[in-house]
Amino acid sequence: MLEADRYLLDQIRAGSADGWSQLVERYQGRLLAFARGKLPRSADAEDLVQDTFVSFLTGLARFREDASLETYLFTILRRKIISWFRGKQTTICLLQDALPAADREAGSGGADALPAAEPTASWYARRDEQDELHRAALSRAMRTIIDDYKRKLDFRHLQIVEMIFYCQLRNKDIARLAGVSENHVALCKHRCLNEIRTLLATDLGGGATLPGRMDGETGRQGDGGTRRQGDEDFRCEEIPLNDALLSRIWQEERISCLKRSTIGAYLLETLEEGWRDYVKFHLDQLGCAYCRANLADLQEQTRTQPVRAFRDRILQSTVGFLSRK
Ligand SMILES: [Zn+2]
Repeated sequence: MLEADRYLLDQIRAGSADGWSQLVERYQGRLLAFARGKLPRSADAEDLVQDTFVSFLTGLARFREDASLETYLFTILRRKIISWFRGKQTTICLLQDALPAADREAGSGGADALPAAEPTASWYARRDEQDELHRAALSRAMRTIIDDYKRKLDFRHLQIVEMIFYCQLRNKDIARLAGVSENHVALCKHRCLNEIRTLLATDLGGGATLPGRMDGETGRQGDGGTRRQGDEDFRCEEIPLNDALLSRIWQEERISCLKRSTIGAYLLETLEEGWRDYVKFHLDQLGCAYCRANLADLQEQTRTQPVRAFRDRILQSTVGFLSRK
């Protein structure tokens, strides 16, 4: 969690109205941009964002702070939007709107798996402890892999893996979009799953046996994970690792989403070529709704801030004359 967010949270928990107003000011723009992208009427978008802040405050005691404030607020809002559409699934990227999803287990996909009724009684707040450990380990493994791609500037594979898990597209469509063969897509997926397995085995300690349905595309069975040789206390843990779960974590935790500062740098055209192309892909082609909401908010700020700053400057320089009779 950002230092600034933690400070604001402490203020709000201590009952500071000023802290609360700062938090609203900081997040309202991106939340509104997100809601406007999903709802036909702007007034409804505003209502849901307002509801989101109310839910945030009333559920504050249950917020465990293992997500960023932004992701937590987006999650509450997204659930409200799904509820507004009476439980109908909403997509989180443009590619999902344009292309059919890969086959997935019924009812276990991303948005449709979110319970719509109680927005703040989310997985952040209530989850089985064991389930929570597995989930956190999966999340760490995926983040490690994504960070690795970014560090190596391997945006090509990052894009493919994003399209597989974040967007849940079919291999056929991913191959066409990325300009590679379907086999290559299947191989990328296979490698990524293997890496997750290896990382999980190390992370959870003692190795992990993963269920067979590892790679639906190639029909290959999971190879049972990595085991520590000679470990007497080897624990055989059943980790429900499948495409739907990985996609769900990826979407809910926004594993590969861009930092706001990166989107800002993209707007200012200060990114290096590789990064610039990748950011453009995430925003425009993949069309991540969360990052597009941040982009819209930043664009809006650059439009209005000079005006506001100019106004403030005028006010400051003129206020003295007001009081002089
Ligand atoms: Zn994103």
